Amino acid sequence: MTKRPEEIALMAESGQLLARVFGYLDQMSLIGMSTLQVNDLVDRFIVTELNARPASKGQYGFAFALNSSRNNVVCHGVPSAAEILQDGDIVNFDITLEKNGYIADSSKTYLVGDVSPLAKRLVQVTYEAMWKGIKAVRPGATLGDVGHAIERHARRHGYSVVREYCGHGIGREMHEDPQVLHWGKPNTGLRLQEGMVFTIEPMINQGRHSVRTEDDGWTVVTRDGQLSAQFEHTVAVMPKGVKVLTLRSGERIPH
Ligand code: MN
Repeated sequence: MTKRPEEIALMAESGQLLARVFGYLDQMSLIGMSTLQVNDLVDRFIVTELNARPASKGQYGFAFALNSSRNNVVCHGVPSAAEILQDGDIVNFDITLEKNGYIADSSKTYLVGDVSPLAKRLVQVTYEAMWKGIKAVRPGATLGDVGHAIERHARRHGYSVVREYCGHGIGREMHEDPQVLHWGKPNTGLRLQEGMVFTIEPMINQGRHSVRTEDDGWTVVTRDGQLSAQFEHTVAVMPKGVKVLTLRSGERIPH
């Protein structure tokens, strides 16, 4: 479950290319675009600008470069020409990219136009919760420490953590061991070692934690119809702490 420094350097290269994809997305005016248009632009950017491969395409029979998960969609939303981004939406774009055989995985929830204060707060707290988890990563800490830090932050704000989907080890394969739960008890679970690389990607719900999958077999929504937000980074356990391989330009590890 651990990777050599040379492998982590290659994963950091993939991660930095993926960070540029989010820089590209940041500049888009999303209102009025379909999620399929966003997918197609991102696909082309990854292939032609970055000389890399959208790793989700063809994986598990999925045909797209990203998952687009809007409002009450928790994760695995499927890009569609019929889904037009509206003023006031929140939408997560979850993207994987492979370069030189190594995959990076990251996601960000965007605010489309003028978003309600309640929705903005959910997105902000979800971002903070991801960072609480990342900051718990160091050699000797446990995955329970990571999950606990995330869950505590979400619950403190009255939100719930989705339990059906979790972070994961990543490398040559998109999904490797271990599973990284976004809840847990301190000092329980796998003990982290230098060289482990995995994602932290909490899905935080405004209401209850329960989810269901729609008939397309992909789209996961909140059972109560309330909003859900998510952020994701790929991180490596380093000798003295953590390195965020997908850190974006202008993004800093909070204190
Ligand atoms: Mn992931």
